[in-house]
Amino acid sequence: MDKKIINDIKKLCGEDKVFESVKLSEYTSFKTGGPADCLVRPVTIEELKSITEYVRKNNIPYYVIGNGTNMLAADEGFRGVIIALKDMSGEISFSDTKDDDTVCVTAYAGCTLARLSAEASAKGLAGTEFASGIPGSIGGAVVMNAGAYGGEIKDILEYADVLDESGNILRLKNEDLGFGYRKSIIQEKNYIVLMVSFLLKRGDEKTIKAEMRELNERRREKQPLEYPSAGSTFKRPEGLFAGKLIEDSGLKGYRVGDAQVSEKHCGFVVNRGKATSSDIYKLISDVIGIVYEKTGVQLDPEIKLLGFDE
Ligand SMILES: Cc1cc2nc3c(=O)[nH]c(=O)nc-3n(C[C@H](O)[C@H](O)[C@H](O)COP(=O)(O)OP(=O)(O)OC[C@H]3O[C@@H](n4cnc5c(N)ncnc54)[C@H](O)[C@@H]3O)c2cc1C
Repeated sequence: MDKKIINDIKKLCGEDKVFESVKLSEYTSFKTGGPADCLVRPVTIEELKSITEYVRKNNIPYYVIGNGTNMLAADEGFRGVIIALKDMSGEISFSDTKDDDTVCVTAYAGCTLARLSAEASAKGLAGTEFASGIPGSIGGAVVMNAGAYGGEIKDILEYADVLDESGNILRLKNEDLGFGYRKSIIQEKNYIVLMVSFLLKRGDEKTIKAEMRELNERRREKQPLEYPSAGSTFKRPEGLFAGKLIEDSGLKGYRVGDAQVSEKHCGFVVNRGKATSSDIYKLISDVIGIVYEKTGVQLDPEIKLLGFDE
Protein backbone atom coordinates (compact mmCIF):
# COMPACT_ATOMS: atom_id res chain seq x y z
CA MET A 1 0.00 0.00 0.00
CA ASP A 2 1.16 3.48 -0.85
CA LYS A 3 2.98 5.01 2.16
CA LYS A 4 1.10 8.25 1.57
CA ILE A 5 -2.19 6.54 2.46
CA ILE A 6 -0.74 5.22 5.72
CA ASN A 7 0.69 8.64 6.58
CA ASP A 8 -2.58 10.40 5.73
CA ILE A 9 -4.52 8.04 8.00
CA LYS A 10 -1.95 8.55 10.77
CA LYS A 11 -2.52 12.31 10.49
CA LEU A 12 -6.26 11.77 10.84
CA CYS A 13 -6.20 9.77 14.07
CA GLY A 14 -2.66 9.58 15.44
CA GLU A 15 0.29 7.28 14.70
CA ASP A 16 -0.42 4.93 17.59
CA LYS A 17 -3.74 3.82 16.09
CA VAL A 18 -2.50 2.80 12.65
CA PHE A 19 -0.80 -0.55 11.94
CA GLU A 20 0.75 -1.93 8.75
CA SER A 21 0.68 -5.55 7.56
CA VAL A 22 -1.34 -6.76 10.53
CA LYS A 23 -2.22 -10.45 10.56
CA LEU A 24 -6.00 -10.77 10.66
CA SER A 25 -5.54 -13.97 12.66
CA GLU A 26 -4.90 -11.62 15.59
CA TYR A 27 -8.30 -10.00 15.10
CA THR A 28 -10.57 -12.98 14.43
CA SER A 29 -11.88 -15.65 16.78
CA PHE A 30 -11.02 -18.38 14.24
CA LYS A 31 -7.38 -17.24 14.69
CA THR A 32 -6.81 -17.45 10.94
CA GLY A 33 -6.36 -14.89 8.18
CA GLY A 34 -3.44 -13.18 6.49
CA PRO A 35 -2.16 -9.61 6.57
CA ALA A 36 -4.22 -6.47 6.04
CA ASP A 37 -2.26 -3.71 4.32
CA CYS A 38 -3.41 -1.27 6.97
CA LEU A 39 -5.45 -1.64 10.14
CA VAL A 40 -6.68 1.36 12.06
CA ARG A 41 -8.22 1.45 15.53
CA PRO A 42 -10.18 4.67 15.98
CA VAL A 43 -11.23 5.61 19.51
CA THR A 44 -13.73 8.39 18.85
CA ILE A 45 -16.63 8.82 16.46
CA GLU A 46 -14.85 11.86 14.97
CA GLU A 47 -11.78 9.73 14.14
CA LEU A 48 -13.94 7.02 12.60
CA LYS A 49 -15.83 9.61 10.57
CA SER A 50 -12.68 11.18 9.15
CA ILE A 51 -11.11 7.81 8.30
CA THR A 52 -14.22 6.60 6.45
CA GLU A 53 -14.52 9.92 4.65
CA TYR A 54 -10.89 9.60 3.54
CA VAL A 55 -11.08 5.99 2.31
CA ARG A 56 -14.36 6.59 0.51
CA LYS A 57 -13.13 9.80 -1.18
CA ASN A 58 -9.97 8.04 -2.36
CA ASN A 59 -11.73 4.80 -3.40
CA ILE A 60 -9.61 2.72 -1.03
CA PRO A 61 -11.22 -0.65 -0.18
CA TYR A 62 -12.13 -0.83 3.52
CA TYR A 63 -13.88 -3.20 5.88
CA VAL A 64 -15.22 -2.64 9.40
CA ILE A 65 -14.70 -5.24 12.11
CA GLY A 66 -15.95 -5.39 15.66
CA ASN A 67 -14.63 -8.28 17.72
CA GLY A 68 -14.07 -10.53 14.69
CA THR A 69 -16.17 -13.35 16.18
CA ASN A 70 -18.44 -13.93 13.21
CA MET A 71 -16.07 -13.83 10.29
CA LEU A 72 -13.52 -15.72 8.23
CA ALA A 73 -10.66 -13.65 6.80
CA ALA A 74 -8.78 -15.04 3.78
CA ASP A 75 -5.20 -16.32 4.09
CA GLU A 76 -4.25 -13.71 1.47
CA GLY A 77 -5.42 -11.03 3.89
CA PHE A 78 -6.97 -7.77 2.74
CA ARG A 79 -5.69 -5.21 0.24
CA GLY A 80 -7.04 -2.06 1.81
CA VAL A 81 -7.86 -0.62 5.22
CA ILE A 82 -9.43 -2.58 8.05
CA ILE A 83 -11.25 -0.32 10.49
CA ALA A 84 -11.32 -2.19 13.80
CA LEU A 85 -13.75 -0.76 16.35
CA LYS A 86 -12.49 -2.62 19.44
CA ASP A 87 -11.20 0.58 21.01
CA MET A 88 -14.35 2.56 20.33
CA SER A 89 -15.90 1.42 23.55
CA GLY A 90 -16.02 4.46 25.90
CA GLU A 91 -18.33 4.68 28.86
CA ILE A 92 -21.68 2.91 29.15
CA SER A 93 -24.27 5.45 30.27
CA PHE A 94 -27.49 4.83 32.19
CA SER A 95 -30.45 7.22 32.29
CA ASP A 96 -34.00 7.10 33.60
CA THR A 97 -36.99 7.03 31.26
CA LYS A 98 -40.61 8.16 31.77
CA ASP A 99 -41.39 4.59 32.79
CA ASP A 100 -40.06 3.94 36.32
CA ASP A 101 -39.38 0.29 35.50
CA THR A 102 -37.26 0.98 32.42
CA VAL A 103 -33.72 2.36 32.13
CA CYS A 104 -32.08 3.59 28.95
CA VAL A 105 -28.56 2.20 28.52
CA THR A 106 -26.29 3.67 25.85
CA ALA A 107 -23.01 2.15 24.68
CA TYR A 108 -20.47 2.63 21.88
CA ALA A 109 -20.24 0.11 19.04
CA GLY A 110 -16.92 -1.38 20.16
CA CYS A 111 -18.12 -2.23 23.68
CA THR A 112 -18.47 -5.98 24.13
CA LEU A 113 -21.79 -7.64 24.90
CA ALA A 114 -20.08 -9.27 27.88
CA ARG A 115 -19.24 -5.85 29.35
CA LEU A 116 -22.72 -4.51 28.64
CA SER A 117 -24.32 -7.50 30.41
CA ALA A 118 -21.89 -7.31 33.33
CA GLU A 119 -22.50 -3.59 33.92
CA ALA A 120 -26.27 -3.85 33.40
CA SER A 121 -26.64 -6.83 35.71
CA ALA A 122 -24.55 -5.13 38.40
CA LYS A 123 -27.17 -2.38 38.37
CA GLY A 124 -30.00 -4.92 38.58
CA LEU A 125 -31.10 -4.35 34.97
CA ALA A 126 -32.64 -7.27 33.10
CA GLY A 127 -32.71 -7.95 29.34
CA THR A 128 -29.12 -8.68 28.34
CA GLU A 129 -28.82 -12.08 30.04
CA PHE A 130 -29.12 -13.94 26.71
CA ALA A 131 -26.19 -11.94 25.33
CA SER A 132 -23.66 -12.27 28.11
CA GLY A 133 -21.94 -15.29 26.53
CA ILE A 134 -21.96 -14.00 22.93
CA PRO A 135 -18.37 -12.88 22.37
CA GLY A 136 -19.07 -10.03 19.90
CA SER A 137 -19.15 -6.25 20.08
CA ILE A 138 -22.39 -4.31 20.31
CA GLY A 139 -21.94 -3.00 16.76
CA GLY A 140 -21.49 -6.51 15.35
CA ALA A 141 -24.42 -7.75 17.44
CA VAL A 142 -26.75 -5.12 16.01
CA VAL A 143 -25.58 -5.81 12.44
CA MET A 144 -26.22 -9.54 12.95
CA ASN A 145 -29.24 -9.17 15.27
CA ALA A 146 -27.32 -11.59 17.50
CA GLY A 147 -29.42 -13.88 19.65
CA ALA A 148 -29.42 -16.89 21.92
CA TYR A 149 -31.68 -18.79 24.29
CA GLY A 150 -34.86 -17.12 23.03
CA GLY A 151 -33.56 -13.53 23.16
CA GLU A 152 -32.18 -11.31 20.43
CA ILE A 153 -30.85 -7.78 20.07
CA LYS A 154 -34.08 -6.57 18.50
CA ASP A 155 -35.92 -7.31 21.78
CA ILE A 156 -33.93 -4.72 23.75
CA LEU A 157 -32.71 -2.13 21.23
CA GLU A 158 -34.32 1.32 21.30
CA TYR A 159 -32.26 2.98 18.55
CA ALA A 160 -28.85 2.87 16.87
CA ASP A 161 -26.80 5.80 15.62
CA VAL A 162 -25.16 4.87 12.33
CA LEU A 163 -22.84 6.52 9.83
CA ASP A 164 -24.11 6.35 6.27
CA GLU A 165 -22.01 6.27 3.10
CA SER A 166 -22.26 10.02 2.66
CA GLY A 167 -20.86 10.67 6.14
CA ASN A 168 -24.20 11.56 7.81
CA ILE A 169 -25.05 10.28 11.26
CA LEU A 170 -28.58 8.85 11.33
CA ARG A 171 -30.60 7.77 14.35
CA LEU A 172 -32.53 4.62 13.41
CA LYS A 173 -35.28 3.33 15.65
CA ASN A 174 -35.78 -0.37 16.25
CA GLU A 175 -38.53 -0.59 13.62
CA ASP A 176 -36.30 1.14 11.02
CA LEU A 177 -33.53 -1.44 11.31
CA GLY A 178 -35.25 -4.23 9.37
CA PHE A 179 -34.32 -6.87 11.92
CA GLY A 180 -34.77 -10.50 10.95
CA TYR A 181 -33.07 -13.78 11.75
CA ARG A 182 -29.36 -12.80 11.98
CA LYS A 183 -29.88 -9.79 9.79
CA SER A 184 -30.56 -6.06 9.76
CA ILE A 185 -30.63 -3.42 7.03
CA ILE A 186 -27.19 -2.26 8.18
CA GLN A 187 -25.66 -5.04 6.08
CA GLU A 188 -27.43 -3.94 2.89
CA LYS A 189 -26.95 -0.21 3.38
CA ASN A 190 -23.30 -0.42 4.40
CA TYR A 191 -23.96 1.66 7.52
CA ILE A 192 -21.46 1.69 10.34
CA VAL A 193 -22.97 1.36 13.82
CA LEU A 194 -21.58 4.02 16.15
CA MET A 195 -23.70 3.91 19.27
CA VAL A 196 -26.63 1.90 20.50
CA SER A 197 -29.34 2.62 23.04
CA PHE A 198 -31.08 -0.24 24.85
CA LEU A 199 -34.15 -0.26 27.06
CA LEU A 200 -33.67 -2.54 30.06
CA LYS A 201 -36.09 -3.40 32.83
CA ARG A 202 -35.33 -3.01 36.52
CA GLY A 203 -35.12 -6.42 38.16
CA ASP A 204 -33.40 -8.34 40.91
CA GLU A 205 -29.61 -8.40 40.60
CA LYS A 206 -29.24 -11.89 42.11
CA THR A 207 -31.88 -13.42 39.81
CA ILE A 208 -30.38 -11.76 36.74
CA LYS A 209 -26.86 -12.94 37.58
CA ALA A 210 -28.09 -16.47 38.30
CA GLU A 211 -29.77 -16.56 34.88
CA MET A 212 -26.53 -15.40 33.22
CA ARG A 213 -24.52 -18.07 35.05
CA GLU A 214 -26.99 -20.77 34.03
CA LEU A 215 -26.98 -19.79 30.35
CA ASN A 216 -23.18 -19.63 30.30
CA GLU A 217 -23.00 -23.04 31.95
CA ARG A 218 -25.28 -24.42 29.21
CA ARG A 219 -22.97 -22.86 26.62
CA ARG A 220 -19.88 -24.49 28.15
CA GLU A 221 -21.64 -27.87 28.23
CA LYS A 222 -22.90 -27.76 24.64
CA GLN A 223 -20.36 -25.68 22.72
CA PRO A 224 -16.70 -26.39 21.89
CA LEU A 225 -15.45 -23.22 23.59
CA GLU A 226 -12.03 -24.81 24.04
CA TYR A 227 -11.21 -24.33 20.33
CA PRO A 228 -11.17 -21.18 18.17
CA SER A 229 -14.36 -20.84 16.13
CA ALA A 230 -16.86 -18.24 14.94
CA GLY A 231 -19.80 -19.79 16.79
CA SER A 232 -22.54 -21.40 14.74
CA THR A 233 -21.11 -21.47 11.23
CA PHE A 234 -24.40 -21.93 9.39
CA LYS A 235 -27.77 -20.21 9.57
CA ARG A 236 -30.59 -22.28 10.97
CA PRO A 237 -32.70 -23.51 8.04
CA GLU A 238 -36.36 -22.80 8.76
CA GLY A 239 -37.80 -25.38 11.15
CA LEU A 240 -34.54 -27.37 11.23
CA PHE A 241 -31.16 -27.33 12.97
CA ALA A 242 -27.94 -27.06 10.96
CA GLY A 243 -26.02 -29.13 13.55
CA LYS A 244 -28.48 -32.03 13.36
CA LEU A 245 -28.49 -32.04 9.53
CA ILE A 246 -24.67 -32.09 9.55
CA GLU A 247 -24.54 -34.91 12.11
CA ASP A 248 -27.22 -36.91 10.24
CA SER A 249 -25.12 -36.50 7.08
CA GLY A 250 -22.28 -38.35 8.82
CA LEU A 251 -20.06 -35.29 9.12
CA LYS A 252 -19.42 -35.21 12.87
CA GLY A 253 -15.65 -34.71 13.27
CA TYR A 254 -15.15 -34.28 9.48
CA ARG A 255 -11.79 -32.59 8.86
CA VAL A 256 -9.96 -30.59 6.25
CA GLY A 257 -6.46 -30.15 7.67
CA ASP A 258 -6.93 -28.73 11.16
CA ALA A 259 -10.42 -27.39 10.38
CA GLN A 260 -13.05 -29.69 11.86
CA VAL A 261 -16.79 -30.07 12.28
CA SER A 262 -16.88 -30.03 16.08
CA GLU A 263 -17.47 -33.40 17.69
CA LYS A 264 -19.26 -31.65 20.55
CA HIS A 265 -21.62 -29.50 18.44
CA CYS A 266 -21.83 -30.16 14.70
CA GLY A 267 -23.07 -26.63 14.00
CA PHE A 268 -19.64 -25.31 14.95
CA VAL A 269 -16.57 -25.46 12.72
CA VAL A 270 -13.46 -25.32 14.92
CA ASN A 271 -9.78 -24.69 14.41
CA ARG A 272 -7.98 -27.64 16.02
CA GLY A 273 -4.65 -25.80 15.96
CA LYS A 274 -3.10 -24.94 12.66
CA ALA A 275 -6.11 -24.61 10.35
CA THR A 276 -5.86 -22.03 7.59
CA SER A 277 -8.79 -20.00 6.36
CA SER A 278 -8.62 -22.02 3.12
CA ASP A 279 -9.05 -25.24 5.15
CA ILE A 280 -12.07 -23.75 6.90
CA TYR A 281 -13.53 -22.46 3.63
CA LYS A 282 -13.06 -25.85 1.95
CA LEU A 283 -14.64 -27.62 4.91
CA ILE A 284 -17.65 -25.28 4.84
CA SER A 285 -18.07 -25.89 1.07
CA ASP A 286 -17.79 -29.67 1.57
CA VAL A 287 -20.38 -29.61 4.36
CA ILE A 288 -22.82 -27.58 2.24
CA GLY A 289 -22.37 -30.01 -0.69
CA ILE A 290 -22.67 -33.21 1.35
CA VAL A 291 -25.64 -32.03 3.43
CA TYR A 292 -27.45 -31.04 0.24
CA GLU A 293 -26.70 -34.39 -1.36
CA LYS A 294 -27.86 -36.36 1.71
CA THR A 295 -30.84 -34.28 2.86
CA GLY A 296 -31.82 -31.93 0.03
CA VAL A 297 -31.41 -28.96 2.43
CA GLN A 298 -29.27 -26.04 1.34
CA LEU A 299 -27.17 -24.66 4.21
CA ASP A 300 -26.02 -21.04 4.15
CA PRO A 301 -23.05 -19.76 6.11
CA GLU A 302 -23.91 -17.35 8.91
CA ILE A 303 -20.35 -16.08 9.13
CA LYS A 304 -19.11 -13.20 7.00
CA LEU A 305 -16.31 -13.82 4.52
CA LEU A 306 -13.57 -11.24 4.11
CA GLY A 307 -11.22 -11.34 1.14
CA PHE A 308 -12.84 -14.36 -0.60
CA ASP A 309 -14.39 -14.15 -4.07
CA GLU A 310 -18.07 -14.68 -3.32
C1 LIG B 1 -17.89 -19.14 20.74
C2 LIG B 1 -18.88 -18.27 19.99
C3 LIG B 1 -20.22 -18.29 20.35
C4 LIG B 1 -21.14 -17.50 19.66
N1 LIG B 1 -22.45 -17.54 20.03
C5 LIG B 1 -23.34 -16.77 19.38
C6 LIG B 1 -24.73 -16.78 19.76
O1 LIG B 1 -25.13 -17.47 20.69
N2 LIG B 1 -25.58 -16.01 19.06
C7 LIG B 1 -25.18 -15.22 18.02
O2 LIG B 1 -26.02 -14.51 17.42
N3 LIG B 1 -23.89 -15.19 17.64
C8 LIG B 1 -22.96 -15.94 18.29
N4 LIG B 1 -21.65 -15.90 17.91
C9 LIG B 1 -21.25 -15.09 16.74
C10 LIG B 1 -20.83 -13.65 17.04
O3 LIG B 1 -20.29 -13.50 18.34
C11 LIG B 1 -21.97 -12.67 16.85
O4 LIG B 1 -22.48 -12.70 15.53
C12 LIG B 1 -21.55 -11.23 17.16
O5 LIG B 1 -22.68 -10.41 17.19
C13 LIG B 1 -20.55 -10.67 16.14
O6 LIG B 1 -20.01 -9.47 16.66
P1 LIG B 1 -18.53 -9.03 16.28
O7 LIG B 1 -18.29 -7.70 16.89
O8 LIG B 1 -17.55 -10.07 16.62
O9 LIG B 1 -18.69 -8.89 14.71
P2 LIG B 1 -17.56 -9.14 13.60
O10 LIG B 1 -17.28 -10.59 13.47
O11 LIG B 1 -16.41 -8.24 13.84
O12 LIG B 1 -18.36 -8.64 12.31
C14 LIG B 1 -19.51 -9.33 11.84
C15 LIG B 1 -20.13 -8.48 10.72
O13 LIG B 1 -20.59 -7.25 11.26
C16 LIG B 1 -19.93 -6.13 10.66
N5 LIG B 1 -19.69 -5.15 11.72
C17 LIG B 1 -19.09 -5.34 12.93
N6 LIG B 1 -19.17 -4.21 13.66
C18 LIG B 1 -19.81 -3.30 12.90
C19 LIG B 1 -20.21 -1.95 13.09
N7 LIG B 1 -19.96 -1.28 14.23
N8 LIG B 1 -20.87 -1.31 12.08
C20 LIG B 1 -21.13 -1.94 10.92
N9 LIG B 1 -20.78 -3.22 10.67
C21 LIG B 1 -20.13 -3.88 11.66
C22 LIG B 1 -18.66 -6.68 10.02
O14 LIG B 1 -18.29 -5.90 8.90
C23 LIG B 1 -19.11 -8.08 9.64
O15 LIG B 1 -19.81 -8.04 8.42
C24 LIG B 1 -20.70 -16.68 18.59
C25 LIG B 1 -19.34 -16.65 18.24
C26 LIG B 1 -18.44 -17.43 18.94
C27 LIG B 1 -16.98 -17.37 18.56
